[in-house]
Amino acid sequence: MDSRQVREKFLEFFKEKGHAIIPSASLIPENDPTVLFTTAGMHPLVPFLMGEKHPAGKRLVSCQKCIRTGDIDEVGDQAHHTFFEMLGNWSLGDYWKEDAIKWSLEFLTDKKWLGLKKDNLAVSFFAGDGDAPKDEETKKIWLSLGIAEERIRGLSKKDNWWGPAGQTGPCGPDTEMFYWSGSESAPKEFDPKDNRWVEIWNDVFMQYFKNMDGVYEPLSQKNVDTGMGLERTVSVINGLGDDYRTDVFWPIIQEIEELSNLSYGDKSDQEYINKGDQCWVDTRKKFRIIADHIKAAVFIIGDKKGVEPSNIGQGYVVRRLLRRAIRYGKTLNLNGDFLTPLIKKTIEIYGNFYVEIKEKENYIIDVVKKEVEKFEKTLEEGIKALKKIYGRAIGGLDPENLPKGMIIKNNKIRVDGREVFRIYQAYGLPIEISQEIMTDWGLAFDDQTMQEAEEASETHQELSRTASAGMFKGGLADSGEKSARYHTATHLLLAALRQVLGDHVYQRGSNINAERMRFDFSHPEKLTAEQLKKIEDIVNEKIKEDIPVVCQTMPLEEAKKKNMMGIFENKYGDQVKTYVISEFSKEICGGPHANRTSELGEFKIIKEESSGSGVRRIKAILK
Ligand code: ATP
Ligand code: MG
Repeated sequence: MDSRQVREKFLEFFKEKGHAIIPSASLIPENDPTVLFTTAGMHPLVPFLMGEKHPAGKRLVSCQKCIRTGDIDEVGDQAHHTFFEMLGNWSLGDYWKEDAIKWSLEFLTDKKWLGLKKDNLAVSFFAGDGDAPKDEETKKIWLSLGIAEERIRGLSKKDNWWGPAGQTGPCGPDTEMFYWSGSESAPKEFDPKDNRWVEIWNDVFMQYFKNMDGVYEPLSQKNVDTGMGLERTVSVINGLGDDYRTDVFWPIIQEIEELSNLSYGDKSDQEYINKGDQCWVDTRKKFRIIADHIKAAVFIIGDKKGVEPSNIGQGYVVRRLLRRAIRYGKTLNLNGDFLTPLIKKTIEIYGNFYVEIKEKENYIIDVVKKEVEKFEKTLEEGIKALKKIYGRAIGGLDPENLPKGMIIKNNKIRVDGREVFRIYQAYGLPIEISQEIMTDWGLAFDDQTMQEAEEASETHQELSRTASAGMFKGGLADSGEKSARYHTATHLLLAALRQVLGDHVYQRGSNINAERMRFDFSHPEKLTAEQLKKIEDIVNEKIKEDIPVVCQTMPLEEAKKKNMMGIFENKYGDQVKTYVISEFSKEICGGPHANRTSELGEFKIIKEESSGSGVRRIKAILK
């Protein structure tokens, strides 16, 4: 069974159970400044999990593109990827644990669906602590469905609890499903520490709200939120023991084999390790990292809201992924244009389902090519210089050509961070890449001088690396509010612009992050200081008036009749959400929004500039 079949079956199964199929959202989150990427199927659904009505109903199912930069250090194993697809089903205050678990098991084991062996399944549930009681209900349901007691394990919050991401917010216990991937038959007892038990699916039961006092109160709307990894699932169904052998990776791996003239190997990681062939696994990891990173880069660049490599935010992540792919490519003797054939393979694999990357194929290839050209020379010269440092430390040896059988690992030889910084200054090779290379060569760093070097490069590079890193993990609760406020501010701004400048003004784009909002609109000329002041004043007046923001769902036709502003692109069928702020602003919009205008604080325009012909851009903040 291949990935296409699993994807289709999942959507079909839950459709039969009354779920509406919703499309994958963009990888770049809409109006959520706290995370760089969509990290789970539930992410675009947060407002609805918080109680807002979803136009498609109370039962939803999707296959969502995800990027997890937080897992980057784990990429190289069999089952963690930067880009992966998450299959998920949701109950928004509708069905509860019994149905959710029953359906999970039915989908996994019924011959009509995945047909996995029940004997190879194990599950975990929340064992309870001082905050919330043991999730007996879940355990009982699994037992009643015929899962053996020894295969059910109660675990702590660390493993079986979801949220809240912020100080307060919805949260609850979850139950995880594992499948045995070992070549021998599954042990009677489930040991969560044995990594041959692969986690494939997670059902989260949002039933509490953690309040300001840290107390877990029962939620009025209880939700089910599930997430199943497509790659892992395809791998276990086919007994592959390695996601990279599934149809969503294997053609890329084969292409790397071809280009490098090296083999990925046919044994499992564990078999190589048992035979003392660690170097096989090390080489294989490079294959995996290259395949993973190029795929993630293709999806980020090719997204509907895609970005190119740059030094900040999502762009920086793309840059980092490509640079790592290039560098690991070098260690397999892959140079020059080796990423182009890998991009083509990726698009061959996914292009029919994710048409956006197919449509942007040439563009993606171009963007990557430019990045490779820019980076290759830097990397070559940087590595040469690093080899000199290495040679001085290890008596003139070449790290990539060590005498046979010699392995240098974690040894006491410490590299002076200032030397790495000098390489950065001379050739532009980023410190983190030098660090990675040296670590691969088995050298350690002197912490003190390394830290000094990093601080120095931070100011030199202007990279918001730490800022981006902080956003890798991401929270929901606090951010939700912030972005909702900015979102409402864009509505007030549009209405004020039309009042001051005229009815030719339409929204052309908007972008919100933690510090500011950016709003593009149609208007032929630069705004005067007077106009800007007037616009700002109108918005602040409306904020002071403390007007409620009223949300209503209605058919698209009705919204048009009521002269609602908005982009008439209906994502979820005919019903659309509308937000009305008295007579002042009426827009079709996905939300989320503040409840009342007074929540916005003070609105301040900080910049007005051109954004292409006939389009102006305003940057503003809420104080
Ligand atoms: P793990 O503990 O294995 O990292 P997780 O607890 O982070 O998984 P969830 O956040 O519960 O996973 O995500 C739901 C499902 O998505 C998981 O059961 C798994 O199948 C899949 N998944 C999560 N992270 C990744 C990843 N980096 N690559 C591939 N699949 C993933
Ligand atoms: Mg994880």
